[in-house]
Amino acid sequence: MKTQVAIIGAGPSGLLLGQLLHRQGIDNVIVERRSGEYVLSRIRAGVLEQGMVDLLREAGVDQRMDQEGLPHDGFELVFDNRRVRVALDELTGGSNVMVYGQTEVTRDLMEAREAAGATTLYEADNVQPHDLESDHPYLTLEHNGETIKLECDYIAGCDGYHGVSRQAIPQERIKAFEKVYPFGWLGMLSDTPPVSDELIYSRHERGFSLCSMRSATRSRYYLQVPLDEKVEDWSDERFWEELKRRLPDEVAAKLVTGPSIEKSIAPLRSYVVEPMQHGRLFLVGDAAHIVPPTGAKGLNLAASDVNTLYRLMVKVYQEGRTDLIERYSQTCLKRIWKAERFSWWMTSMLHNFSDEDDFNSRMQLAELDYVTSSQAGLTTIAENYVGLPYEPLE
Ligand SMILES: Cc1cc2nc3c(=O)[nH]c(=O)nc-3n(C[C@H](O)[C@H](O)[C@H](O)COP(=O)(O)OP(=O)(O)OC[C@H]3O[C@@H](n4cnc5c(N)ncnc54)[C@H](O)[C@@H]3O)c2cc1C
Repeated sequence: MKTQVAIIGAGPSGLLLGQLLHRQGIDNVIVERRSGEYVLSRIRAGVLEQGMVDLLREAGVDQRMDQEGLPHDGFELVFDNRRVRVALDELTGGSNVMVYGQTEVTRDLMEAREAAGATTLYEADNVQPHDLESDHPYLTLEHNGETIKLECDYIAGCDGYHGVSRQAIPQERIKAFEKVYPFGWLGMLSDTPPVSDELIYSRHERGFSLCSMRSATRSRYYLQVPLDEKVEDWSDERFWEELKRRLPDEVAAKLVTGPSIEKSIAPLRSYVVEPMQHGRLFLVGDAAHIVPPTGAKGLNLAASDVNTLYRLMVKVYQEGRTDLIERYSQTCLKRIWKAERFSWWMTSMLHNFSDEDDFNSRMQLAELDYVTSSQAGLTTIAENYVGLPYEPLE
């Protein structure tokens, strides 16, 4: 089997890259370890930056997003019994974000790929990249009981944090930067109307909480929990009671509760690997970096990597510019580190790190008071939240 670009992973990175390349006439094959249904069952991100929305439009998958997505012009920060609105559009000269679930983005991309007749090999086992430093890299994999060799020009490693791509790079050629936080987020999805039209990020002595949504009738709520917490110990009643305790009284009074559809705990970490390329293998999205979800950056960073790699590949195939693709990693990393900084900062300011650390607690309140009472502070939050501009290629 032969293609121009072999893509490992059918998460949002792999599917979006595949669709954009396909529309430019660049042949690609996606190989995915799981089934399509399994990929769609993962409940994850839901806030899209303007840059990602534009990229989805370019990929031709904007129809349902425009009908069902919820444009958001602001969000709320809650701390010390205060509620402060961050007016995204006013502070950034008209930018906003779109609330549209990662599951929906993935579904739209899968359907577009199927309609285009592009090849995706689901339930592919033992995917392994080879000869990365040669001009003829290839993948080996097992699919439907057959061993397949997939020859290509380039390999895009879009296989997430636990994938094989990063592991295929010799350890002495990469360096990882990591920070693990001493807590996780317990997320709950429910078919109940959201408590507010806008997201609410709340700092509380009992721990952080986030009121988010997927649609006008589907809510997504999160609670900061200790790392060793077990999801089975959280009945729906316990979750709702704890959420109410962490919200201002007038918000808690409006909370509509109901049975959960999904509950899961995600640990929080910051992680970046440098460089993001080795020979003809390019790491994209979570394969190269992770952010704590506090700044809503994970999925959006994956999209900005896709944007860079896609445009560089178009330069290769349409203009013969093989020099620019050598700069993939350095171009992506500039924006990645800024998003890592924002996510780390929001996490540091809004979570309870220790009940005993009163000094840290006062620092958090002073910082929140400062940034929310200063136009410059609010603008800093807003311009990072809507997404910094994509880096130029040259
Ligand atoms: C539990 C959870 C909650 C999250 N919540 C948020 C949030 O609220 N906000 C936010 O912004 N971000 C959130 N994120 C981050 C966001 O979902 C990711 O940044 C995004 O999914 C990255 O997309 P990706 O395509 O790069 O990686 P992934 O979505 O991880 O996709 C990688 C794909 O590669 C496949 N794969 C892995 N290994 C192999 C292999 N060996 N062979 C073939 N295929 C393979 C996987 O099955 C998967 O389909 C969350 C992430 C997690 C895990």
